[in-house]
Amino acid sequence: MKDVFFSLGSNIEPREKYLAAALSELNKNFKFISSSSLYSSSPVDDLAQSDFLNICCWYAVDLDDPFAILNIVKKIEDNIGRQKNPLRPKGPRTIDIDIILIENVNIKTPKLTVPHVSYLNRNFVALPLLELIKNVEKYSELKNKLLRVVSENSNQQVNIVGEPIHGFANKSFSENQE
Ligand code: AMP
Repeated sequence: MKDVFFSLGSNIEPREKYLAAALSELNKNFKFISSSSLYSSSPVDDLAQSDFLNICCWYAVDLDDPFAILNIVKKIEDNIGRQKNPLRPKGPRTIDIDIILIENVNIKTPKLTVPHVSYLNRNFVALPLLELIKNVEKYSELKNKLLRVVSENSNQQVNIVGEPIHGFANKSFSENQE
């Protein structure tokens, strides 16, 4: 099994329900380890849209092929109703799931880049990721790197706004809507 860290974001209501639904779906495919508090962040690329709710989550996977993980993630996004607007690729979304890190994986292709190409530039990823790994000995180097970039990017508005999501396991999206 290897560790995989995902970043999840939503800026269409009900944002927390979309995140919970994504966690439920990830749980069906991977072994859940932990998920972060809820963070709020301002949009970074396409600025004319609502704030995002973000979390990072940590799973263990037994897949050797990183593209298999990407395919699962894309299916989950589709199931949760992510619709792509080709005119606004960075526009509002029900759910966005990015693969941030996979243990011992370094890959750079047009379809998949891991570690994620911009995770160190975005405090809405770096802060929740830091929360997950800060007390884990094998990630002490990552922790130091994240602490450095978090302070370099301290101009970014990212705030903790809620506790980690609980009670999502094995619920379908419609159950999470209730
Ligand atoms: P997004 O707009 O965030 O859904 O991402 C668009 C595309 O980025 C996806 O269709 C993936 O093929 C590609 N991509 C490249 N690297 C990654 C990654 N680490 N995690 C998720 N998607 C990625």
